[in-house]
Amino acid sequence: QERLFLTHQARSRELYQRALYSLAGGVTSSWQITRPQPIFIEKGHGSKIIDVDGNEYVDLHGGYGAGVAGHAHPAIVTAVQRQVTAGTHFAQPSEDAIIVAENLAERFGLPLWRFTNSGTEATMDAVHLMRAATGRELIIKIEGCYHGHHDSVQVSVAPDEADVGAIDDPTPVPASAGIPSAITDLTLVATFNSLGSIEAILERHQGKVAGLIIEPIMMNAGIIKPEPGYLKGLKELLARHGSLLVFDEVKSGLAAGPGGAVRLYGVRPDLVCLAKAIGGGLIVGAVGGSSEIMGRVVDGTYEMVGTFNGNPLSMAASRAMLEEVAIPESYSWLEALQSRAVREISDIIAKHALPAHVVSIGAKGCVSFSPNPVRNYRDFLKIDDRFNHLHWLTQLNGGVFLPPWGKTEQWTISVQHTDDDISLFVDNFSCFATTVARI
Ligand code: PMP
Repeated sequence: QERLFLTHQARSRELYQRALYSLAGGVTSSWQITRPQPIFIEKGHGSKIIDVDGNEYVDLHGGYGAGVAGHAHPAIVTAVQRQVTAGTHFAQPSEDAIIVAENLAERFGLPLWRFTNSGTEATMDAVHLMRAATGRELIIKIEGCYHGHHDSVQVSVAPDEADVGAIDDPTPVPASAGIPSAITDLTLVATFNSLGSIEAILERHQGKVAGLIIEPIMMNAGIIKPEPGYLKGLKELLARHGSLLVFDEVKSGLAAGPGGAVRLYGVRPDLVCLAKAIGGGLIVGAVGGSSEIMGRVVDGTYEMVGTFNGNPLSMAASRAMLEEVAIPESYSWLEALQSRAVREISDIIAKHALPAHVVSIGAKGCVSFSPNPVRNYRDFLKIDDRFNHLHWLTQLNGGVFLPPWGKTEQWTISVQHTDDDISLFVDNFSCFATTVARI
């Protein structure tokens, strides 16, 4: 499959060789390195992308889940075109920003909003804000959750089995070099779907924990859903200790459903972080919160700033996304496609008796090479990752572009995908399953 891949990627290869002399590692973000080489994309339209060699792919990578609108959606194109000719940066608020905030307030049940330029900035501000609002320094994060690349949350993101420590007392592990221990010492680590592990930390550090930041649906370790009562239990437990609850819905946000996990599970946190899909393909992040916590921004206790925050181009795109794309009809369509994909892929898994299962929520889905349900990061570590690269290559050579990162990432179905796109995806999966069943 790798040889087949390379025969179709001559121009990407040339660009990659050239890029190695000017772009560090030949790419613009370390997670753009696909094996055996990066693919340079020329354009995207609807559900498809076309690379520099002229190969067309059904895009189920979706730009790491930002692509719920699909590519060049007419509503987004119109909004951006209009704004680009009217100026793109004034460092002053716009009416679109109010409309976006009002729309998000309605969806996520939190009244006050500010904008950022990425998910990383959103969670960084949320962590600062929970510390500013409580006057406490310690935070809790969940083992296996990813919240972007700022210091406080670069702890126990994807630690190896040898490093994780006891399940009831996980060892905090820096996610990469360059994260100072003085910062990571302030981040305590708990296990997903275990209220006991949070309670133990809160009791051990009475009165010192600002709060918990969590992906309410874990989406950087495949897809791990919260068990019934878990999110509600977290809220009550944290409130009892005067600690705050932050939902990082950068990924789940508009992808899990129109009002993210907040709406799906009916639990309203103190703060919610959004990014990716809310920009309709443009660059935006957001933090929404209760009047009480956002009051610390209002009164200047925490200054939440950024040159491009709420820039008119991103706000115009986001307004179009929320008003014209992320609407009930789109979700019905996207969920119909998803349930077909899940049903047909599950049938193929059963037919070949593969030790795997499919997990999905809203636009997101993944195949997990484990016969057992996955409740937390420890279970995720046990998932077999041997076949994911073969699956990725088989899909790519068959005209479907999936995220390359094995068992950690999901596919994203956009509002512009079609039944034919799902048929191709399922057919490629069938080829892959036939090969794996023979191994
Ligand atoms: N939080 C979550 C849950 C994410 O999945 C990501 C990105 N994958 C981030 C935060 C960081 O977002 P960004 O890449 O826009 O900084």
